[in-house]
Amino acid sequence: MNEIRLHNTLSGKTEALVPQKAGEVRMYTCGPTVYDYAHIGNYRTFVFQDILRRFLKLRGYKLNHVMNLTDVDDRIIANAAAAGVGIRDYTEKFVQAFFDDCKSLSIEAPEHWIRATDHIQDMVKLIQQLQEKTYTYSTEGSIYYRIAKFPEYGKLSKIDVSGIQAGARVDVDRYEKESARDFALWKAPKPGEHFWETPIGRGRPGWHVECSAMAMKYLGETLDVHTGGIDLAFPHHENEIAQSEAATGKPFVRYWLHAEHLLVEGEKMSKSLGNFYTLRDLFAKGHKPSALRFALANVPYRKQLNFTFDGLHQAASSVERLRNFAARLAQGKFPPGKQDGMAARIAKASEEFDAALADDLNTARALAAAFDLLREVNIAIDKEEFREGDTPGVQQFLAAFDRIFALLEDNDVEKLQALGMGGGNSGPSDAEIEELVAQRQAARQRRDFAASDRIRTELADRGIMIEDMRDGSVRWKRK
Ligand SMILES: [Zn+2]
Repeated sequence: MNEIRLHNTLSGKTEALVPQKAGEVRMYTCGPTVYDYAHIGNYRTFVFQDILRRFLKLRGYKLNHVMNLTDVDDRIIANAAAAGVGIRDYTEKFVQAFFDDCKSLSIEAPEHWIRATDHIQDMVKLIQQLQEKTYTYSTEGSIYYRIAKFPEYGKLSKIDVSGIQAGARVDVDRYEKESARDFALWKAPKPGEHFWETPIGRGRPGWHVECSAMAMKYLGETLDVHTGGIDLAFPHHENEIAQSEAATGKPFVRYWLHAEHLLVEGEKMSKSLGNFYTLRDLFAKGHKPSALRFALANVPYRKQLNFTFDGLHQAASSVERLRNFAARLAQGKFPPGKQDGMAARIAKASEEFDAALADDLNTARALAAAFDLLREVNIAIDKEEFREGDTPGVQQFLAAFDRIFALLEDNDVEKLQALGMGGGNSGPSDAEIEELVAQRQAARQRRDFAASDRIRTELADRGIMIEDMRDGSVRWKRK
């Protein structure tokens, strides 16, 4: 097996992954801020971290993966107030939508899903530790982090803070590099705003302190891996480092991994450009969850992903090819024995697949390894050279492939139904198709061609193509 190497934003280098405890990876992912439906750019990051965790599991690592839901921040407070509801009521719908969306993209649940508002006391404790070590100061009930006291500030995002005036503050949770300032750990409530009554006063936590407190509570003072979108590197992750390392005196994270941006048709996604898509927007246009997962997964995470509708159509046909290939293997009747060289060919594909993923999760290369094998096996089957004895080897390759990419199961209709979409025109189930195919075979055997044609037409009307093979077997696929 190949050594797993990952690009660490902190060192700027690609490094061998060596967890602190052999065989176990402790990992934190910044989850969504649940003030609205997450968009496809967010899901690009979540699909990346899903592929990372699936690959680590395939390699036998035990995972302790924490993902948070930011259910209190500036935008949530503002939106909940505008809607006239409490923040828990406001966020509930978007929390559920996020879970449902993740399922539709086959994103595995982490070991711990946690909410910021369930951990206010942990955040207060961390702020108290920082107060004791004099990393903070208070103004009008709010508590700020004094970045001048942490000389390593900027080491992740490589920003230069030398020109920043001591005591200049920023109150908002999200800001640009140009606004690097002392940031709020704890915010005093504005009139009418939701607050918690705590030993450090009334108020609510800043966004950044949420992740430091929750990550260390579940994963210890030093995590193995922290992932997120590149837009979180500054200020969010920079501030997480400042808070955590000042409090513990230990490195907070050993490997920082960041997914690059997603563009739509070459442009930055924005509501004003009309190119802003949630998953549900795309599904409502008739695109399948599996096609979207493929489109988000096939560009390596550190490359900018240009999402296009052409690309999404291509992704859909790639998924079809994979599923048809798996069905062809499962349904085909091949001569006994093994084809010369096929076992070595399968072993080469497996090695290349593993090497690609070990190489900083090069998903494009891993997919190419799978499609190369698929093409060669299809040619061998067409030439009637492929043998029964090679089927298990190819199927094992596909099984490993699918533990990472999760595309083979034909469950798009069920997934859309679970989201309350695409219910009406669902095709027949596999079992129903198999039954009709068997009835048609029986009709042909008794030379009742009128009946066999009728079944073929019925299947065609319901979107199922059948193909009679030379050896007398039948293959079917969905159109
Ligand atoms: Zn975070």
